[in-house]
Amino acid sequence: MSKAILVLNAGSSSIKFTVFDRAGGALAVRYNGQIEGIGTRPRFKVRDGAGAVAHEDAWENPPLGRGHAHALEMLAAWLDPHLPEEGLIGVGHRVVHGGPTYSAPTVIDDGVLRDLESFVPLAPLHQPANLAGIGATLDFLPGVPNVACFDTAFHRSHPKVADIYGLPGEYYDEGVRRYGFHGLSYEYIARALPELAPELAGGKVVVAHLGNGSSMCAISAGHSVDSTMGFTALDGLPMGTRSGQIDPGVLLYLMQEKGMGAKQIEDLLYKRSGLLGISGVSNDMRNLEASDDPRAAEAIDYYVFRIVRETGALAASMGGIDGLVFTAGIGENAAGIRRRVCEGLAWLGLALDPAANAAHGPRISAPGSRLAAYVIPTDEERMIALHTLAALAG
Ligand code: AMP
Repeated sequence: MSKAILVLNAGSSSIKFTVFDRAGGALAVRYNGQIEGIGTRPRFKVRDGAGAVAHEDAWENPPLGRGHAHALEMLAAWLDPHLPEEGLIGVGHRVVHGGPTYSAPTVIDDGVLRDLESFVPLAPLHQPANLAGIGATLDFLPGVPNVACFDTAFHRSHPKVADIYGLPGEYYDEGVRRYGFHGLSYEYIARALPELAPELAGGKVVVAHLGNGSSMCAISAGHSVDSTMGFTALDGLPMGTRSGQIDPGVLLYLMQEKGMGAKQIEDLLYKRSGLLGISGVSNDMRNLEASDDPRAAEAIDYYVFRIVRETGALAASMGGIDGLVFTAGIGENAAGIRRRVCEGLAWLGLALDPAANAAHGPRISAPGSRLAAYVIPTDEERMIALHTLAALAG
């Protein structure tokens, strides 16, 4: 290994990490893993670049409030003998919210940290965990530069009309805007298009990031112009446990007629809705596909219906569509979902190649199809590593 880059994705109860080795210009995965169960009983697992388990550990929960700090301390201690002598070039952090201002990855200093803290009200479930990861890195990997890579940044190329709500303007001014998320995934796909789908690189493409969190993005000539997620990562498609788009009148009904408070509604919309809520069976697409419960079928029907519907809306935002790209856990693996989405878009001129779809692509549209369709695996960690290198070089 020459010099390494550490990519951190700190969530509320887990820290996922990847160590990239920059040998000879290329970025190779040296280790990846996670510390899960932060706040309950943390478990630490590391795999090497070939996927073999390199380390496993578990420990008692540290004192309240020290979860992320302790996890990072354990990770830093494990990393120390496993890093090259030259050490780390830098640490790239996934940060969910860059607010209205951050449209590119940014080297973290005190001023940036203060800004990121000011965005906590915009992402109260995720931003504090991201900040805890950054704080712990400053403590346990001192002297190593840190770069914030934002899930919202790629969407800052939206025209303003795609980012406002039909609310009085002062709400927009104070930050109530459609930010969009999954930006690191979309940026990775946009950068991969010239090599993997060159005919789409300069065109109008809808990318469907279909995972436990699901959203879609309209990318025109490599730039995001619209996205299904808005002020929060609740909007747009139904997800594993999140509702997706909902009439705000439903929330008024829940408050006024059912006496539900903000916490109960938050719990309902984030944790008990979407595929899990509709099916009553599971949030996991594999379980739904294997189930013979009609409610599981209904959840899948709704998921596909919304993807097809949003594709039409995003095509309208761009004034046309040349291609569709599927990515993330469901997008990359669930051939049946892709088939149904493509059938729903036949009216747009999309013809599926069933054999290519069963083989997971990369190109899954039939020769002669007016619309090209692809499966392209996303790699948000690599995108963060590339951003970290570029931000530190710049
Ligand atoms: P992600 O959040 O990107 O890891 O995606 C997680 C989702 O991908 C879960 O709903 C999984 O059930 C789904 N998934 C992963 N592999 C498959 C598969 N082979 N078939 C259907 N769904 C899958």
